[in-house]
Amino acid sequence: MSLCSRQRCDIVAFVRYITNPPNPYNRYSAEYVGEPPTTKLEIFEETNTKKVITKAFASGWEGGWRYTVNCYRGCVHGCTYCFARQYHEYLGYGAGTDFETKLVVKPLAPQLLKEELKKCRDKMPHLDFSFATDPYLPIEAEYKLTRQCLEVCAEFRVPVGVITKSPLVTRDIDVLKRLSKVWVCFSLPFLTKERSNPFEPYTPVPEARFRAMKTLSDEGIDVGIAVAPVIPGYNESDIPGLLEKAKENGAKSAFMSMLHLDTDSIEAYFVAKMRERLPATRVDKIINTIKRERGGTLRHRSYKERDSGKTEQWDVTRRLFDFHAKRLGLREYEASALEAKAEAPIVTEPVQQALF
Ligand code: SF4
Repeated sequence: MSLCSRQRCDIVAFVRYITNPPNPYNRYSAEYVGEPPTTKLEIFEETNTKKVITKAFASGWEGGWRYTVNCYRGCVHGCTYCFARQYHEYLGYGAGTDFETKLVVKPLAPQLLKEELKKCRDKMPHLDFSFATDPYLPIEAEYKLTRQCLEVCAEFRVPVGVITKSPLVTRDIDVLKRLSKVWVCFSLPFLTKERSNPFEPYTPVPEARFRAMKTLSDEGIDVGIAVAPVIPGYNESDIPGLLEKAKENGAKSAFMSMLHLDTDSIEAYFVAKMRERLPATRVDKIINTIKRERGGTLRHRSYKERDSGKTEQWDVTRRLFDFHAKRLGLREYEASALEAKAEAPIVTEPVQQALF
């Protein structure tokens, strides 16, 4: 995909200074002399999308997720720890504010999803929305691409998992109820907005996410909580309260995962933003705690180590989560719960052979 294939369609200004770590895929990088310019929200429409179902790397905490749909690239929620930042670098953009302000929209997503499912529905255990962006970004209110894709999933009776930080998901209760199987997981790693702000500066506040969880649960939709990421030295103590509030608001399942900083760029941005927003002693404590869990660096050394710490402290954190999840009757999320034997789609067109 080339950048010139996108049509720039909207620009909205707001105050935030451009900050991007050097992109390792670009030959040259430049620094601003003096104060960098402010960012602008830019939305691009990708007109040559070829496919929307991605076969994602499976791992333990991700519950065996394999097939994902992303209608957007980039995410205005701007979580400083977001592992999807690296995907923006593939486009030639930066993993910092570019990821948060240069959004790519795939208007063809619903149509492509339908075409792909005609070919591979019989091999599709379930689909997850999303993996590289929040499926309910504010621009979804206008584009409605996630909604249209969910309608396609309902048509093909594909089980669906949704992971989001946005109450906008409640807009689609009618479609969610038409799905053969669905699970909506709210990413909620911090108990209060004060604790969330340094790491999730532009997301809906935790209270809003809990309210949305209750709204869905009251409508009979299976909801859960992802206590992810647990940032060693920062939010372990939030775990019992988060699980309790999730239970109060109707959650039936829960999982947790440890912070993983997958690339140099994400590490640089994460640390820089933490230094801007937290006192130095607090930052040092977090950095030192993460390093102990990672064996001396902030990054895990192998994919296998991505989700586990090296010290007894991490074992204590894990046990804390397990204890409270069990006490509250929250089951661990398992993809297999969604992967019931594929039901026949109700579309009239013939289903072709599998893609995968
Ligand atoms: S909401 Fe999800 S996709 Fe968006 S920045 Fe945060 S972690 Fe990344």
